[in-house]
Amino acid sequence: MRCFKRAAEAGFVIPALSPEVLGKTFPGTQCRLLDGKLVASMMHDQCRTLVKSKPQPKLVAILAGEDPASQVYVGNKSKTFANVNFASETIRIPSSESTDASLLALVDKLNANPGVHGILVQLPLPASVNAAAITNRIAPAKDVDGFLPLHAGTLATGDFGRFLPCTPFGVMVLLAAYGIPIAGSRTVVVGRSNIVGKPMSFLAQSEDATVTMAHSRTKDLPAICREADLLIVAAGKPNLINRDFVKPGATVVDVGIHRLADGTLCGDVNANVREVAGALTPVPGGVGPLTIAMLCVNTALAAWN
Ligand code: NAD
Repeated sequence: MRCFKRAAEAGFVIPALSPEVLGKTFPGTQCRLLDGKLVASMMHDQCRTLVKSKPQPKLVAILAGEDPASQVYVGNKSKTFANVNFASETIRIPSSESTDASLLALVDKLNANPGVHGILVQLPLPASVNAAAITNRIAPAKDVDGFLPLHAGTLATGDFGRFLPCTPFGVMVLLAAYGIPIAGSRTVVVGRSNIVGKPMSFLAQSEDATVTMAHSRTKDLPAICREADLLIVAAGKPNLINRDFVKPGATVVDVGIHRLADGTLCGDVNANVREVAGALTPVPGGVGPLTIAMLCVNTALAAWN
């Protein structure tokens, strides 16, 4: 897989899954369960092994403001880093002290620190600051989220020697681990965000998929989705995709994640898709864990390549 080349050069491999795992289905269905949590844990194992003979990668996360979901995301990232024996630090800045000047000065300081390999600015930033100005200040060599316009450009032009955004990169690793064919497939990506949908479409094209992008203004979304051999959904709309959107036997990747009023989690894909899809990612335990695993990989690449 072209997008994995840089990771392979650092010693990472696409996890090899047992026949039992490859054949696992959602209970009572023929739909294979694409176990992102397991594949993520296998990437963690590789980080833990590789770091024994290499310099310890270090990530610094900037957490500005008091957004509760951001606190959870950053907390999960630092737990995973500790778990793979990578270093991480979270710098917390209250909203009252978050200004363009203070955050730019902080990013500059981290850019200049050779002991810091990766810098992550957790979004959303407080409304008082210019988020694009802050995130665009990260040095390209430390952009482990792969969000810089430079990295959007290199991805679009097929240069995989740079950082790839963690969520679509994780989806590619999951599909490769399960041997889901991408080349020649009709792939539909629902959602065109800069951090998921767009990079996802470029990665699928780089593996020779014929890609259709769908979004909130797409006409007849169900018909477009039904053309897909591979349907990747990142719309941020709970249960948007139901069984009527899915061609029998298609692979469906659900990037969405939502906490419902009763506290349970769901994705953009309705559970009834299991009745028709050939393979599907669960929520939770699908794409989410892979996003953090690929952040570990990107931080390792920042330190080692
Ligand atoms: P976003 O809001 O930036 O973009 C959503 C996209 O979906 C837009 O391009 C919009 O046009 C499209 N869309 C919205 N409603 C639609 C509809 N009814 N029909 C078709 N298209 C529609 O969102 P994002 O940042 O790309 O995230 C998408 C989802 O993925 C969210 O639920 C987010 O929480 C989740 N997410 C998960 C992970 C993870 O690690 N699992 C990472 C990033 C994002």
